[in-house]
Amino acid sequence: EKPVENHAFEADVARLLHMMVHSVYSDRDVFLRELISNAADACEKLRYEAIANPALMASDPASRITIVLDEEGGRLVIEDNGIGMSRDEMIEALGTIARSGTRAFMERIEAAKAGEGTQLIGQFGVGFYSCFMVADRVDVVSRRAGSKDAWLWSSDGKGSYDIRPVDLAEAPARGTRISLYLMEDARSYASRWTVERIVKEQSGHVPVPILIAGTADAEPSQLTDGSALWTKSRNDISKEEYADFYRGISGQYDEPALTVHFRAEGRHEYTALAFVPSSQPFDMFDPDRKGRTKLYVKRVFITDDAELLPRYLRFVCGLVDTADLPLNVSREMIQESPILAAIRKGVSSRVLSALEKLAESDGDAFLKVWESFGAVIKEGIYEDFERREQLMALSRFRTSAFGDGYRSLADYVKDAKEAQSAIYYLAGGNPEQLKASPQLEGFRARGIEVLLLSDSIDSFWVMNAPEFEGKAFRSITQGAADLALFPKTDGGASASAEAPAHLADFIAFAKEKLGDQVADIRVSDRLTESAVCLVASEQGYDRQLERILQSAGR
Ligand code: ADP
Ligand code: MG
Repeated sequence: EKPVENHAFEADVARLLHMMVHSVYSDRDVFLRELISNAADACEKLRYEAIANPALMASDPASRITIVLDEEGGRLVIEDNGIGMSRDEMIEALGTIARSGTRAFMERIEAAKAGEGTQLIGQFGVGFYSCFMVADRVDVVSRRAGSKDAWLWSSDGKGSYDIRPVDLAEAPARGTRISLYLMEDARSYASRWTVERIVKEQSGHVPVPILIAGTADAEPSQLTDGSALWTKSRNDISKEEYADFYRGISGQYDEPALTVHFRAEGRHEYTALAFVPSSQPFDMFDPDRKGRTKLYVKRVFITDDAELLPRYLRFVCGLVDTADLPLNVSREMIQESPILAAIRKGVSSRVLSALEKLAESDGDAFLKVWESFGAVIKEGIYEDFERREQLMALSRFRTSAFGDGYRSLADYVKDAKEAQSAIYYLAGGNPEQLKASPQLEGFRARGIEVLLLSDSIDSFWVMNAPEFEGKAFRSITQGAADLALFPKTDGGASASAEAPAHLADFIAFAKEKLGDQVADIRVSDRLTESAVCLVASEQGYDRQLERILQSAGR
């Protein structure tokens, strides 16, 4: 008998598993997609390692995923001949929450109100552990390619798992075999009809062929051919095929809001397939979040770490496949490669112009994208000097003048007052709070539109964006505003800069009481209903930026 080690799951895993099993899960089918996507990743990782070490694949050069159905025994087996896992890799990958995304997901789930949780699980992939939704025991036998030992990981998903070495005869020659002992109410997942339907629906375009066999079959039959969707021409791909592929690559379960698929020819040759999701990934603001763009060289997966897009387009997922880089390109070389820099530029341009086209052709659809990703896109105004104008033109804002609607800067400038040389804004809180701000009163009274900037990033880019169509950005909280330039539309008289006599005493009194806490107290034209408001000085930071810097301890 081989020695068995028993390990407790990391606390986060135990929580996730508990949630998974006890939530009335609306769509349990997704576990299969998660396992197939892991199997395909493992095959792609092996193909990549085999570039430097061809011996790893020499005995069996074709990648494949095989599904075995044991209907009688209520067992479903998913096997791949990919990279496999060593003992330590199993403990790391199947006993902890290695994905930062999963941790972010858990936090969202725990913060969610009762009932919302299931929706969230349905929306996002949650990886390997999802197999415990349908199985009360899971055995994973794995042999890392090139290794002389194999290991069995086994668990009922209730707090701990066993791990032990197994004889090579009991393991795949290389790769991983996952056996699910199905729960009573999940036995249909061992039926051919169900599994074929799910695989075609969810995993039809995984770039590794999928085979299926019953326990009694001599030969497995092929379910999907593993051909790469992106190599086909756009006209031959249906909307469903794109959506299916998108779900595979994004780990989300929604529909893509935008699909960009093109072949670049000329100086650099590559194919790009990129998607804008229709809902926000839950880890979008996680600083450790890995990109969702994959780099392939001649259909061989190289890395998902190549930063194929600038950070402010990190919500876009997809891939680039090029023949211009050598297959044995190292990950370090990739970061420096001028070819990749050109590709990055080309793909960004195409994604941005697709967004521009959407804004023109279907404003409502564009605003949906904007609501999910506008806060990220605006980071580009701050970061990408070359595209600043373009990104400002793409941006949409709530303003003091148009209810809940969104306005572009071009709209704003078009409707600005004749004497108006600035684009006025108020930054802070949420749009509702901003709308109620006394700072707006004087502007409203004069019919001047004010942008309401409620994302944190706004305070940064407005400081840096010198102007749009010749107009500078100006915070209305800063210094004595330019209100004297504009007549009130309601016909009320403007206050003069001199403090009227009846206020002079009060101002002197307040200055004495407040001392150093304020720089000045002035009679102002900016209020129509409120008695007082705080403003920032003309030179220093805007009030909102001041707050952000304070809370960041600066
Ligand atoms: P993700 O796929 O996003 O990393 P998962 O929870 O699906 O998260 O899988 C966790 C990890 O387990 C993977 O990153 C991988 O290291 C390992 N793993 C899972 N399935 C396999 C497999 N079939 N072959 C090799 N490694 C696997
Ligand atoms: Mg996975």
